[in-house]
Order: sequence, then structure tokens, then C-alpha cells
Amino acid sequence: MTVTPLSDSQIIPFYLTSGAENIALIRGRIASVGKPATTILQRHAYPPAIARMQAEALALTACLASTLKFDGIFTLQAKGDALVRTLFADMTSDGDLRGYAAFDADAPSPDNDDPTLPANVPQLMGSGHIAFTVDEGATGGRYQGIVDLEGATLSDAATSWFANSEQLDTLVVAASHLQDQQWQATAMMLQRIATEGGENGSAAERDLSDDAWHTAKTLMESLRFDEMVDPTLSPEALIFRLFNSMEPHVAPVREVRDKCRCSPQRVENMLGQLDPADLTDLADEDGQIEIICEFCKTKRQIRTDEIAASPTSQ
Ligand SMILES: [Zn+2]
Repeated sequence: MTVTPLSDSQIIPFYLTSGAENIALIRGRIASVGKPATTILQRHAYPPAIARMQAEALALTACLASTLKFDGIFTLQAKGDALVRTLFADMTSDGDLRGYAAFDADAPSPDNDDPTLPANVPQLMGSGHIAFTVDEGATGGRYQGIVDLEGATLSDAATSWFANSEQLDTLVVAASHLQDQQWQATAMMLQRIATEGGENGSAAERDLSDDAWHTAKTLMESLRFDEMVDPTLSPEALIFRLFNSMEPHVAPVREVRDKCRCSPQRVENMLGQLDPADLTDLADEDGQIEIICEFCKTKRQIRTDEIAASPTSQ
């Protein structure tokens, strides 16, 4: 089977090795989601700084979600008390990505926004928290980690979430940029692979792992913003450019697409759980309720008497 993936709608897992034995010591991911980010953001009229933060959130979500080893949904949700109140993005393990931001339309947008840097989280969101949630569809399992919104960028928040919740050293970076109406949105993560035997592993194994982590971290920290959002540089080329000395092994790509999970049935179920008095408040004089999906902006009209007829409202 020949697959020709678009370089701006995919995740590439990769591994970095070290030493003569070619042992995989670090796992990495690069998510490049400019194409879905472009169509998602076109449906919303966000001020430029908020759009950039949303594009970063989409790339980060795709990158972190790709570490899921089961069917489910990965969600990034940040709450702030400044211009942006809610920043939301989620992705299914099949690669269906979506997101939205809720912001105070009356508040002034930052006039010193620098589009050549990652979005300024303290300026846009103030103080608050960011939560990363994994929902396992089939088994119903749910895991959530929350950290305070500290640090300058969303990547800093994601890195500190890993520091709080995982035993493994992890580093995350994200960047986004709009050029000629097209978004570039890229996130990269590196994670140290636990050495065999864990704490009981040999000193030589630990030294090898320490060295590899230090080298990979230094190489990733040398990554420039303009390299991450360069439309002429493929994600694969970026991996090899950065980590050539660590013999990167690239795994098959995973596709990411702009796809919402809303449906007429979901809207009806949601409305069916409301109090009949609330339904009347929502409806116009003809008994029609108009519901717009926050994510994909799909507009749906539903009659209150249709909802009342549904068994879920009993
Ligand atoms: Zn939708």
C-alpha cells in the first residue's frame, strides 16, 4: 500500500538511539497539523494572538494524544482569568481533531503580540490551570492531570504536567504561524525510555541513558521557532536535521484530520436532559431551538416538541 501523507496533517513517531548497540533510549513525536488547524480556525473569528494559541493547542493535543495506546479521547483544557477564559482541544485515537477558545470579546487584544514567538500564556490567560484528560471509550476509564498555568507558553505547561504526572523525563515544544492564510502548527515531544531493570539497571545502562537524554534535550532546545513553522521543511527532515547524530528511527505516520464528533442525535440527547422550562426559554416563538456547535460551528434547528417526544426527556 502506498500512502502519500500530507506533511501538514500527520504525526510521526520516532526513536533516538545511542551507542554501538543501537538501543532505543528516547521516544519522540512530531505533530504537524497546519492543514486541520487552518480549516478549524477559519470557522472562528479569533483575534490573531488567540488564534495562534489555539493552533499551538491543536498541535500539542495531537502530539500528546498520539501516546495513547488504546481507543479513546485525549483532551487539553485550560481555564484562565484574562482575555481567554477557556482553551480547549481534543483528539480521538483515530486522529479526529477539534478545538475552540472562549474569550472576552469586550477586552482589548494584546497590542504587543509577537508572531515569531509562541503565544504568551500569562498575557492571554492570566492565572488558571490546564488539565489533560484521557477518556478510554470502551472501558470507561478516565485519567486526568491538572497543573497550574505557570510558565510563559503552553509547551511549558505541558512539560510541567509531565513532570508532575509521569515518572519519565519529557520535554515538549510547540509553535504556530499564519502565512498566506495557511497555518503551520507543530509540536514535538521527547520522552526518555525507562532503562531495562529500572533503578536496578546497570550503572553503564544508566550512564548511556543519561547521556542520550542530555544530548537529545540539548538538540531539541536548539530548535528555532522559524524552523518549526517553515512550510518548506517536512517534519521528517526536521527530525533528521536535529537528531542526525542519534540515528533517528522513524515509525509509520498517523493521519490527523479536522473532524468534529457532534451529531443531530447528540444535540437531541443533550437537550433531552434539560428541564422543560429551560427548553421553553431556549426556544423562539415558533418552538424552535437553534444550537451551534462550539467546535465546528454547525448550526442545527430542533423543535421543542420533538425533544419532548424523545424517551431521554422522561
Ligand atoms: Zn461540531
